[in-house]
Amino acid sequence: MAKTHHSHPPRPEKDLESLIARCRGLGMRRTHTLDAVLGLLLATHRPLSASEIVDSPPLKGKCDPATVYRMVVRLEEQGILRRLGLRDRAAHYTIRHPHTHDDYIVCTRCGTIEELDMQCPVEALEDEIARKSGFTNLDHELEFFGVCPSCSDDHTAAA
Ligand SMILES: [Zn+2]
Ligand SMILES: [Zn+2]
Repeated sequence: MAKTHHSHPPRPEKDLESLIARCRGLGMRRTHTLDAVLGLLLATHRPLSASEIVDSPPLKGKCDPATVYRMVVRLEEQGILRRLGLRDRAAHYTIRHPHTHDDYIVCTRCGTIEELDMQCPVEALEDEIARKSGFTNLDHELEFFGVCPSCSDDHTAAA
């Protein structure tokens, strides 16, 4: 079930320390909640909604929900987390890694979210846009929507 990350192999411990260092560089204090939120997102490898974060085993009953919600918003404002809109679903959050990113595909029936397990399809386009527009440091966020294999199977069985 674990998806391979196309450009950033997971090294949770090292990543957690470097993320904490980035947060501290932005003026955030290292707290248990900060460690728990970042550790959870690193370990999960898929975007989580704020309520999923609050209700996850490492945080539930251990971190104050209001503090967790505020921290998630703050981390997104600081560029540590990426916020995915996912159309009419609750906002989901994932760690934003410098110089790399993931694009996502979302099932519109069951809400499953997967990383696109392929080379980013638009990096070459980004270079071309940079050349033509004169913009630098281009970034993008892709969210594709469709019906996942198990939802398609259900549909076939029911028909
Ligand atoms: Zn589905
Ligand atoms: Zn991409």
